[in-house]
Amino acid sequence: MSKIREYRERHELSQEELARKLDLDRSSVAKWESGRNKPRLNHLLSMTKIFNCSLDELVVGGKEMAVSKSVNCPHCGRKLNSYTVDTTSTQRTSGTCPSCGKRYTVEYGKGKIKVSKN
Ligand SMILES: [Zn+2]
Repeated sequence: MSKIREYRERHELSQEELARKLDLDRSSVAKWESGRNKPRLNHLLSMTKIFNCSLDELVVGGKEMAVSKSVNCPHCGRKLNSYTVDTTSTQRTSGTCPSCGKRYTVEYGKGKIKVSKN
């Protein structure tokens, strides 16, 4: 399932506006979004420039690429929680290690995860 609609709305473009940028008519964009037709590669590449995203993000989307990763306590090395890491945003959370009782901060997103001592 493509993310064209999601990206188009995020960029506040109507189907017609996006179609105009791609030199197409609105029905082409409507068909892509409803899954009745697939965009050609040259149109996908043009859209990555319009939306400032990668081909992966546009075709597969951030959430589908999410993976669950676990982290270890930076103090005692025991396993902590798992976090869902996707490609769209970076989040930060902190907590207390249940084993050693010390605090840690986890930063995750954009395919990476990092744990540090507080
Ligand atoms: Zn610990």
